[in-house]
Formats: sequence, C-alpha cells, structure tokens
Amino acid sequence: MNEMYLERMKDMLKDEYEAYLKALDDPMHKGLRVNTLKWDAESFKNSGLCEYKSTSMSDVIFEIPEDVKLGKTVEHHQGLFYLQEVSACSAVEVLDPQPGDYVLDLCAAPGGKTTQIAMKLANQGLLITNEIDSQRAQILLSNCERCGVSNAIITNASPDVLCPVLEGTMDKVLVDAPCSGEGMIRKHSAAMDEWSVANIKACAARQKRIVDQAVKVLKAGGIMVYSTCTYAMEENEEVIDYILSTYPEMELLDTTDRFGRPGFDYGLCEGSKVRRIFLMDGGEGHFVARLRKKEGLSKELKKLRTGNVHPSVTQFLKEQIDCSLSVMMLKEKAYLAQQFYDLGKVKVLRQGICAGEVIKDRFEPHQHFYSSALLRPSFKKITSCSHDEMIKYMQGEVLMKSCPKGFTGLSYKGHLLGFGKSDGNMIKNKLPKGLRQR
Ligand code: SAM
Repeated sequence: MNEMYLERMKDMLKDEYEAYLKALDDPMHKGLRVNTLKWDAESFKNSGLCEYKSTSMSDVIFEIPEDVKLGKTVEHHQGLFYLQEVSACSAVEVLDPQPGDYVLDLCAAPGGKTTQIAMKLANQGLLITNEIDSQRAQILLSNCERCGVSNAIITNASPDVLCPVLEGTMDKVLVDAPCSGEGMIRKHSAAMDEWSVANIKACAARQKRIVDQAVKVLKAGGIMVYSTCTYAMEENEEVIDYILSTYPEMELLDTTDRFGRPGFDYGLCEGSKVRRIFLMDGGEGHFVARLRKKEGLSKELKKLRTGNVHPSVTQFLKEQIDCSLSVMMLKEKAYLAQQFYDLGKVKVLRQGICAGEVIKDRFEPHQHFYSSALLRPSFKKITSCSHDEMIKYMQGEVLMKSCPKGFTGLSYKGHLLGFGKSDGNMIKNKLPKGLRQR
C-alpha cells in the first residue's frame, strides 16, 4: 500500500491507526437494501436468499456475508433488492426524502443512492437523476428500470448545464461527489493505484465546482447532502468549509448519530455536525454532511403539455392497465407520467415510464412498462410462472405455456420480471437481449 497514504491515515487516526490496519484484513462489508417500491423486509427475511444481519442504518438495510452472490437470482432481476454496501446507504438516510419532494441526484450512476431515494419518494414527487458520463448513465437507466422507478427524469448532463435549468426548484439535492475513493481500496484496487495527493487536490477542485452548481437548484429551505467515499479532509470537511464560506445562505445542520462517528473541525465546518464511517465503524468508508439553504429563489419547474397519442398506444394501454397517468409521445416512443417537465436543452434519457414504441403502426411494449412499481397494481394480463420457467425466461428461451393471446406480463411469486407475447400455447420471449443470462 502507498506509504504516503498510510502516513496520512496515521496522522488522521492517531491511536486508532492500528485498528484501521487490522480492519483492512477483515472480510469486506457487503450490504443489501430491500427495495420497498416492490418488496418488504419481512419477505426478504423469509425468502431464504441468504444470511443477514440487521443494521442501525435502517430496518430495510442488511449486512450480508462477503461470499454471497445474488446478482443472478430471479429476485434480483425482479428488482426486489439492491446490493449496496451499508455505509454507502448513509447519504440518503441523512437526506431523508419524503413522498412528494422534488429531489435532484446530481452524480448518480450506477444508481444505488438514486434507487434508494426513489423508494423513499414512494412514487410521489419527482426525482431528477443525473450522470455526466454517457456510458455510466446507461447503467443508471438500467438500474432504475430494474428497481421499477417510475417518477424520475434521467439526464446525462454536466452540472453546469443542468443546474441553471433547475434553479430554485428542488427541495433536496444529493451530491455524492466523484472522489479519490479511499473507502473503495478494498473493493477496487485501482483506487490505490491511482492514489496521489495531486489526485486528491484535483478531486477537491472538481467537488467545489460541482457544489457551486448544486447550491443553485435548491429552493429556500432546501436541503443539500454532500457525501464521498473517501477519507481525505480536502475532499470532505474542506469542501463543507468552502460551501459555508462562499455561500452565506447555506448553513450546516446536524446529521445523525445512528451510525459512524463525528468528523473533524476544519474552518467553518464543525466536526460534530458531519459524519464519517471508517472501516472500523461497520462500513467500507463514507463521509456525509447535511446543509440547508436559508434563503433564495423558489420557482416551479416548467411543465410540458402532452400532444396527440398514436391510436395503437391508446389501444394497448386500455387492454393492459387501469391507470390515469398522462401519455406523451416523443417521436415513436410513448411515455407515462403524472406530469412531464421541460428541461430545455438538457439531454434527457428517460422521463417517467417508457411504455414502448410504435413500429409500423403497431405498438411494441418496453421492459420498463412491466418493471414499473407504479403500474404493478393495475396490470390486467399477467401470467404466473414457476422458478424453473423464470430461469428459462432469463436465459432467453420461449415458454411452452398456454395463456390468452397477445402481450402478457410474466411474474414469479407475484412480482413481474418481464413480458412475452403469447400465441395461445407458447410465449415468445421479449426480455431485452442485454438482460438475458448466458
Ligand atoms: N451516487 C452513485 C451511487 O450511489 O451509485 C455513485 C456516484 S460516484 C461516487 C460519482 C459519479 O460522479 C460518477 O458516476 C462519475 O461519473 C460522476 N462524475 C464525474 N465527474 C463529474 C462531474 N464533473 N460532475 C458531476 N458528476 C461527475
């Protein structure tokens, strides 16, 4: 391990340095968060999926053994849970989104915290979830779909393009900043290979540019949570000091004492108000701070009016669901949402639920339509499958099963995993190729 890194940790941890070194050899912390948009803690506990330990973070967040692999299970594909290390869940617990809030997740891929925010919003209010990197934004999109997120706008923009458009409109913003990743060195050894003081300083400069933008989007009274998965003071307490000294309208609030330990005093940042999780505290490493914008502009997001809808879409929706969401067509694609918004020139990858696409006057549904947690209670055509059938489906096979002709959702134990098209005796597999298991 890098000598300079260890020197800095020794300076920071003092008497606890030895305990940190010892903890480096302990098994990795691994966590599972039940996705309450689709499932509940009791059902997870009774599922027999794996051993688990409760945590002080939340009653739907569990520690699971390091060697457990759940990524290929039917339940994972159904979006019933998200594999998320326990300390990584801390930022959203502190942000505490409430149903009906307007929340921006500014640095969101791969989507652990976004899907956690979405479950706390419980399909009410709006989540704008953004990722600057276009490839990572696709992973964010796919995780949102799997977890059934239905009330989000997924954007792929730089904060300086997105935030001015959202000025004064958000109740809450999460800045889970790109960082030097000192809390990730056991999971991704590259974090240590890339470690240098110069990189920490470059990360800190970028973090300050990101928070400059994030401050703008908050309404008066709005809450910002700033988090990283690194230990370096330059990227944590020093960034909070920067916010407080640059923006007098921002104040530092208490976080929580449910997990971790206080941070360090640095300039205007009071260590007792922020929270740190070190390896010895039951997590791989995290920093969280909560701030409030005392005053400022408060505005409404610009709403979009929906236009004409292709008749094949109307017909399909009538046959498949009972619901009163608005429908909007963007070129040939149809989307469903309570309300659509105009984000100007910002690159929007998804707004609401993608219902499907009109191809040569016929409607072809999208996976998101069937994975949506919001639509789940309103489906009229669902075919229930056994575990073996679901495994075959996940492998891309057709299902030899009789059911009424046409499109049908496919479920296992009451939870949809995808859809197919039946000719009466056989169900053609419509699971997108990228989601199939080889
Ligand atoms: N919140 C995510 C989650 O819980 O899954 C993890 C986010 S990760 C710590 C930070 C993200 O910030 C990365 O996806 C990275 O691509 C993105 N990023 C990198 N540079 C950025 C910038 N200048 N502005 C905004 N985001 C940036």
